[in-house]
Amino acid sequence: MGIKVAKFGGSSVADGIQLTKTKAIIEQDPDRRYIVVSAPGKRFEGDNKITDLLYLCKTHIEHNLPYDQLFQVVADRYMAVEVNLGVEVDLLGYFDEIRENLKKNPSSDYIASRGEYLNAILVAAFLGYDFVDTADLIKFDAKGKLLMEETDQAIREELSRHERAVLPGFYGSTPDGQIKTFSRGGSDITGALVARAVGADVYENWTDVSGFLMADPRIVKNPKQIHSISYKELRELSYMGASVLHEDAIYPARMANVPINIRNTNDPDDAGTFITSEGAGVAGQDDGRIITGIAGSKDFTVVALYKNMMSSERGFVRRILGILDDYDINFEHLPSGIDTVSVVMSNKSINGRLDEVLEEFESRLRPDSIDVIENIALIATVGHGMSARTGVSATLFSALAKAGVNIRMIDQGSSEMNIIVGVDNKDFEKAIRAIYDAFVQ
Ligand code: ASP
Repeated sequence: MGIKVAKFGGSSVADGIQLTKTKAIIEQDPDRRYIVVSAPGKRFEGDNKITDLLYLCKTHIEHNLPYDQLFQVVADRYMAVEVNLGVEVDLLGYFDEIRENLKKNPSSDYIASRGEYLNAILVAAFLGYDFVDTADLIKFDAKGKLLMEETDQAIREELSRHERAVLPGFYGSTPDGQIKTFSRGGSDITGALVARAVGADVYENWTDVSGFLMADPRIVKNPKQIHSISYKELRELSYMGASVLHEDAIYPARMANVPINIRNTNDPDDAGTFITSEGAGVAGQDDGRIITGIAGSKDFTVVALYKNMMSSERGFVRRILGILDDYDINFEHLPSGIDTVSVVMSNKSINGRLDEVLEEFESRLRPDSIDVIENIALIATVGHGMSARTGVSATLFSALAKAGVNIRMIDQGSSEMNIIVGVDNKDFEKAIRAIYDAFVQ
């Protein structure tokens, strides 16, 4: 028998109707032995995600406001599912235990984690699978950094004792036993860790879309689906804001060479998108496509530093990085010329401190000039297929020129797998459409 790890996101487990679809999917393939669940998500437009309600409970507790009714809303959602599906779990007992803990003002991580915890208990009962808590399996160090190898071993050991199990996503614990969550959407990471540990044939990530599209459908009309993509390509795209899968979920799967398959719970016949080490193959072809996808985001700032003879001055870039480090700012790109270097940072990371950072640049680097370009959007055009062909950048740049888009920055990774351009925020959508139309027929 093979092993498939299937992770179901919030919308796939939002209520009894969705859970019935989820169960049918699981039962359709006996290899789907390890199931990871999110907390129930939105059932309709305007509905609340359980995780959001739980964070809200924490806010109420912190401000000494009553939170009983709020927690009752959470409890009622699970109760409704229990009744709808006809499963029997001692939910009231679990609620009492959580209510007791809430009185002690627990961490927001603890409170948020109860969404996945309760859901996994319920889904395990519904499927007749074992419930395996991840609190002791997913291990973080005291600073909250994931301990990848310890986690891998703990999951492997525990699951060798269970033929079929449901595990809650999103959380683990620190060495002192405190619950620690990943960042939002982190159940994807739990799924990837489980898939790695059990050596799964595939890690299925069930959500409410049929995989990745070549571009954001809010910008490009009916973009084509990506049938297969490599881990590396996806890394480039998810980093730039294509948000179907948590970006940290790629690494564990990639380490163990487990393909990730993004699937749609509401359309299980669609094969979705496969993420593998090869992607569409060396030629980068998905129906003969040259590029795999386009993604981007707005609100970056470029600081261009010019200094005569910079190239022969040792330690210039090191000092730039030192300043960024002092301010805890990540740089996105660092395109450089002989006597120039540009630092591309997100506005989020600058966090209103641009003037201070510029002063530091001025005093510690003594450049001849500093130019600041604000309101820049970055667009990544990604695809293994690009490296094997000539004229790809010519196509891209002439498409942008024809659309009247002024390019403010260019950076091409040495893997020749991506071309990043910086354009004015206002040209963002226009630029993406122009690139898409130039490469996709
Ligand atoms: N429930 C958590 C969230 O809403 C984690 C997840 O669903 O992956 O972010």
